[in-house]
Amino acid sequence: MSTRSTDTGMEPRATGDGDGHAQAETRAPSFAETALTMGGKSEEEARRTGAIDAADDQVEALFAPQYQTTASPAHRAVWDRGVPVELFKSRPPHTPPDVQKAMDDSIAVVRSHRHAGTLHNAEGKVPENVLNDLAGAGYWGLLVDKQYGGRGTPFSSFAPFLTRMAMLDPTVAGLASVHGCIGAVDPVRTFGTPEQKQRFLPRLASGESLSAFALTEPCAGSDLTALRTRAVLKGDHYVVNGEKLFITNVVPGRTIGLVCLIDDRPAVLIVDLPDAENEHFQLTKYGLYALKHTYNRGIVFKDFRVPAANLLTPVKGDGLTVAYHGLNLGRVALCAAAAGTMRLMMASMLPWARFRKTYGQPIASRELVQRRLGRLAGLIVGCDALVAWCADLIDQGYRGEMECVVAKIFGSEAQKEAAIELLMKTHGGRSFLHGHIFGDHVHEYLAPCIYEGEGEMLGMGFFKSLVKAHGVEYFEPVGRALVAAGIKRPNPLNPAHAWALKGPLWNYGRWRARQAARWIGSPALPDMPSKLRDHAVYASDFLQRMPKEISGAMFKHQLKLADRQCRMSEISLRVQSAIVILATSLYAARQTDDVIRTAADCLCQDLTRWLTGARPSDRYFRGVTRLGEQIADGAFQSIAGVEAGEILMGYAEQK
Ligand SMILES: Cc1cc2nc3c(=O)[nH]c(=O)nc-3n(C[C@H](O)[C@H](O)[C@H](O)COP(=O)(O)OP(=O)(O)OC[C@H]3O[C@@H](n4cnc5c(N)ncnc54)[C@H](O)[C@@H]3O)c2cc1C
Repeated sequence: MSTRSTDTGMEPRATGDGDGHAQAETRAPSFAETALTMGGKSEEEARRTGAIDAADDQVEALFAPQYQTTASPAHRAVWDRGVPVELFKSRPPHTPPDVQKAMDDSIAVVRSHRHAGTLHNAEGKVPENVLNDLAGAGYWGLLVDKQYGGRGTPFSSFAPFLTRMAMLDPTVAGLASVHGCIGAVDPVRTFGTPEQKQRFLPRLASGESLSAFALTEPCAGSDLTALRTRAVLKGDHYVVNGEKLFITNVVPGRTIGLVCLIDDRPAVLIVDLPDAENEHFQLTKYGLYALKHTYNRGIVFKDFRVPAANLLTPVKGDGLTVAYHGLNLGRVALCAAAAGTMRLMMASMLPWARFRKTYGQPIASRELVQRRLGRLAGLIVGCDALVAWCADLIDQGYRGEMECVVAKIFGSEAQKEAAIELLMKTHGGRSFLHGHIFGDHVHEYLAPCIYEGEGEMLGMGFFKSLVKAHGVEYFEPVGRALVAAGIKRPNPLNPAHAWALKGPLWNYGRWRARQAARWIGSPALPDMPSKLRDHAVYASDFLQRMPKEISGAMFKHQLKLADRQCRMSEISLRVQSAIVILATSLYAARQTDDVIRTAADCLCQDLTRWLTGARPSDRYFRGVTRLGEQIADGAFQSIAGVEAGEILMGYAEQK
C-alpha cells in the first residue's frame, strides 16, 4: 500500500494544532451549494449538501492533481479528446512472497475450521478463536504497513484475495474489509500522526484489536449531515454522547473509527471500546437478517470518555474526509466479495442442474438454464475486471472515487441479480428450504445494495463528480449572472437577459462549437480479439459522445438539475455501463482462458443491448447458451474445488 501514500503526492498524515483540536476552517460555498441556493432551495438544504460537497473537495485535495477526479479514467473518458485507454488496462498484481504466504495461511485457517465444523459458534457467528487463528496467519495485518507489523499488501493483491476468501466464506472476507478498509486501519494509516500510528497500528495488525466503522445513526444514514453524536473536550478527554446504528463487527473490546460532531463539525475519534458494557457504553441488539454470521449492533454512548489524543486531524477537511477515504477501498472490496459469492452460487447450481431432470432431461441441457450460467459467468468476470482495474488505480495513487462507485454498484447489483434471477430460479422450490444456499443467505446477497452507500444514491454522486468541473466552468457563471441581474426565468429572446448573460453564454457557446466540431477517432487499443475490440470501440465512442448530452441536460435544467434525480440516475447508469464494457473487454483481452473471454463478450453484449435498446439476436442466444453448456461441463476453471453443498430433498431416479 505504500504506493497509495507519499510517493503519489498524497499527503499521508494529519497536522493538527498540536493538542488534537480540529482547526476551524471558513469554507467558501461549493458549486452544489451555490447551485442549490440559486435554484431556490432552503438555506438549510444548501448548507447540508454543501458540507458533503466540501468533504468531497477536501478528500480531493489530499491527492496530487494528476490523481484527482478530473484526471481519473472515468472522468477523462468522457471529457477529454480521446479515451485514455492505458488507464483502463489493469496490470496483473505483483504479490510479494510473504504476503502470499499470509494469504494462503489465512485460507488454510478458514478451510480447516470449515471442515471441522467450527467456523461458526452456537450463535451462528464466526467465533473469537477463528478470528485469533486468522490473526496468527497475518490476516488482519494485510493492509497495515510493514513498519507497524503488517504486510503492506498492495491493494491490487488484497482485493482479488478477498474474492478467494469469499469463495470459502463471504463473512470472513467481509470482516477483512470492515477492519482494513472502512474500520480503523485505513483512517489511522492515512490520517494518523506518527504517534497515533505507533499506538494503534501494531495491535490492529496483530489482530489484538479488531476494528469497526461507526458512522450511521438512527437519524443519519444517507444524509450524513444529520449526525447527532457529539464529543465535547473536557480536559484531556472528549466526552461522547449519542447513538450509532447498524455497526458491523462491533463487540466490546473492539477499536472503532467513530464519526461524531466536535464543535459542530464532523470528526473521527479512534475509540477503544471497554471489554464489557457499562453505564457509559451500551450495545443495542436487534434482529437483523443480513450479516448473520457476525455481529451488527447499535451503540449508545453516555458521557463516554475518549482520550483527546485519539482525534484524527486530516491536513484538510474533517471527519467526513476521513470516512470517505476508507469507503472508497471498501467499495472495491465489496465488489471483490461479490465475485467470490457469485462463484459459490455457480458452484451450487452446477450439480443441481446436472441432477435435476424434467421431462426426462437434466435442466443443465435446457437453454434457459444455460443462459443463466452464461450470464452468471459474465457478471463474475465483470466484477473481476472492475476489481483488478480499481485496485490497480488505487495502487498507482489515484483517488479512484468514480471508478470505485462503478465497482460497488455493479458488484452489488450483479450479486442481487445472480441471487434472484439465476440462483433462485434455477434451484426452484428447494431455494426456500432451510439449509439451502439461497434461503439461508438471501439477505446477505441483497444487503450490499444498501451498505456503504445505497446504489442509486451513489449513482447520483457519480454523476455529480462527472459534471462538477464542467458545471463550475460553464454553468456557475451563468447562475451567478442571473442572480446578479435578478432574473428568475431567463429568456434568451429578451435583450436585457441576453445582455446580462453575454459573457458566460459566449464562453459556453464556444465550448458547444468546439464539441460540434469534435472528431471522435478510434481509441488506441492494444492487440485484442476482434469481438472484445468491438466492445471497447463501442464503449469508447459512447463515452466520447456523452459530453453533448450531459451538457445539454445541464443547460436544459440549469439550477434545477439537482432536483432532476431520475435524469441524473439514468445518465449516470449509462455512463457506468459503458465504463464496465470498456474495463471488462480490456481485462478479458489479457486473459488466455477462452471461457473468460466469452463470458466477458456476453456481458458486454448484454450491456450494449441495454444501452441501445436492441433485442437479443439468435446469435447472441446461441453464444450465451453454448457458454452455459461449457460451464455445466466444468469449464469455469476458477470455481474448481469450491464445495457445492449437498442437494436437498434428493431422490433416486425411477427405473
Ligand atoms: C447489513 C448492514 C451493515 C451495515 N454496516 C454498517 C457499518 O458497519 N457502519 C455504518 O456506519 N453503517 C453501516 N450500515 C448502514 C448503512 O451504511 C446505511 O443503511 C446506508 O448508508 C443507508 O442509510 P439508511 O439505512 O439510513 O437509509 P435512509 O437514509 O433511511 O434512506 C433510505 C433510502 O431513501 C432514499 N433516499 C434517501 N435520501 C435520498 C435523497 N436525498 N434523494 C433520493 N433518495 C433518497 C435512498 O434510496 C435510500 O436508500 C449497515 C447497514 C446494513 C443493512
